[in-house]
Amino acid sequence: MNKNFAEMVSSLDIEELIKVKRDLDNGGGSVARIVNEKLKERARREDSFCCVCSSRIDPFSVSKFTLTFGPDDMNKSASFCAMDCMEHFIKNLKEFWVEENQTFIKRKKSEN
Ligand SMILES: [Zn+2]
Repeated sequence: MNKNFAEMVSSLDIEELIKVKRDLDNGGGSVARIVNEKLKERARREDSFCCVCSSRIDPFSVSKFTLTFGPDDMNKSASFCAMDCMEHFIKNLKEFWVEENQTFIKRKKSEN
């Protein structure tokens, strides 16, 4: 059953509603995190393509792989249709990562 936001809010227990109000009064960090997680989950379920070969990924396939990386508050994820695609991605990521860090180290050295 689809609910709009007002219907969803009116179905909450008073304790939960107070928690949401407190969170919103403090910047809404928890609400934002829950909404972001749900959006990511939906995107993963509904529109999943291999980030290497672009083929559509069956969300229930046993050969589906997903990597999550980056800081906790804004992590990124990449899904793959097979282990070969994931391996290709990791190899390129490693090269990119080393290159990026070398540039950063060179910049740091020249600043001093
Ligand atoms: Zn692939």
